[in-house]
Amino acid sequence: MKLFAHHVLLPTGWTQNQIITIENGAIEAITSGSIEQADTSKQIVIPGMVNCHSHAFQRAFAGFSEQGSEGNDSFWTWRKIMYQFLSKLTNDDAQLIAQQLYIEMLKRGYTRVAEFHYLHHAENGQPYRELSTMAKAIFDAAKNSGIGLTLLPVLYRYAGFGEQQPNDGQRRFINSIEQFNQLIDECFSLSEQYENTNVGIAPHSLRATNKSDIEQAVAHVRSKDANAPIHIHIAEQQQEVNDCLAHYGERPVEWLYNNIDVDKHWCLIHATHITEKERKTMADSGAVAGICPTTEANLGDGIFPTTEYFGEQGVLAIGSDSHISVDPVEELRWLEYAQRLDKQQRALLADNATPSVGQYLWQQSAQGGAQSTSTNTGEIAVGKQADLLVLDDNTLACYANSPAHWLDSLIFATNDNCVQDVMVNGQWVIENGKHPLEVDTKQRFSKLLASLSA
Ligand code: ZN
Repeated sequence: MKLFAHHVLLPTGWTQNQIITIENGAIEAITSGSIEQADTSKQIVIPGMVNCHSHAFQRAFAGFSEQGSEGNDSFWTWRKIMYQFLSKLTNDDAQLIAQQLYIEMLKRGYTRVAEFHYLHHAENGQPYRELSTMAKAIFDAAKNSGIGLTLLPVLYRYAGFGEQQPNDGQRRFINSIEQFNQLIDECFSLSEQYENTNVGIAPHSLRATNKSDIEQAVAHVRSKDANAPIHIHIAEQQQEVNDCLAHYGERPVEWLYNNIDVDKHWCLIHATHITEKERKTMADSGAVAGICPTTEANLGDGIFPTTEYFGEQGVLAIGSDSHISVDPVEELRWLEYAQRLDKQQRALLADNATPSVGQYLWQQSAQGGAQSTSTNTGEIAVGKQADLLVLDDNTLACYANSPAHWLDSLIFATNDNCVQDVMVNGQWVIENGKHPLEVDTKQRFSKLLASLSA
């Protein structure tokens, strides 16, 4: 297919009148040309966004935990309600929720998702005969929606530091190391059957695993794929940092780097509470910081030091995590606004080469997201996978409307969805803002939601 773009955002910046040649899901060539030489033409084309952190089932829980209890609500009370909610979910429910979510993601411009998947067992906590039964539901949801999937089965063993016994709310998450490695083997086999998918692992957190668990799980997944992505929740809450200090005598990021070989295929989710030294260690290691601005705000986590981290050439990706919001635009807006509120300054997340905050954030996050999933995505360039978005130029025409300002207008100035068409792996999955399964999926999802909350 030859796609003519009047304007396309390449790694080097906005470029006019380009023909993008796409074969077998990949970009084969990008050349100057005219509209007559192409099969189809679009006005404004940008790279698709990677969502580095998702717990799909939590989409069904969005909005259920926003009622005050006299200042006593916290991450931990939210988690209790979430556990009660997920105890009822069947395998089919999980697939439907993920399918609804992934269609919503595509419509807003996410072309790939890293699913931090920890709901493994049946409702009563018993493992399925096939350990990957719940994982298969996620693969099916990704296939039906058309989104690219990086599946990260979660290793979850303990309720807290010091190998505390899991509680009842956690029984669907728990695996021995042997079971977990078996699950990984099954997921690699499944991935071969589903296009545009890959597999990594996610040791849940330092509190839910120990050093030996992490080492064994990493060694196993790396024996199957040397570049397999490894994600971990690291320092989301101050209490987690305090518990880690009490148990190990070190802060979470500090302990991780002192004990585990962290490389560029690692993604540290919610490195919210870090010292300057920890921040520099992260940036130097080349690992990705996985930041989820709307969820971190919603749960009252804290603010990641994004300005300083970018100043140190740290790599960052964004995720929608609890799905209280499913929109990369809102994540990036909050990423910048949290810094402005904190520092009482403006236009902080940019550099001299890319002074547009919107463009800088979009490109950095898409490339960081690609790295966090070990996939050949995140940029429109020769040899990359054809994951791209067409923006609605009619809506953007109502705001600062030139290439230098388009992504600023998109991220800061409008609440309209400007994503018009979405291509994943060379296939159009959203056209004129519509997904072919959206009506049916939404109807079934709303019915399920009503029954779950009855
Ligand atoms: Zn998470």
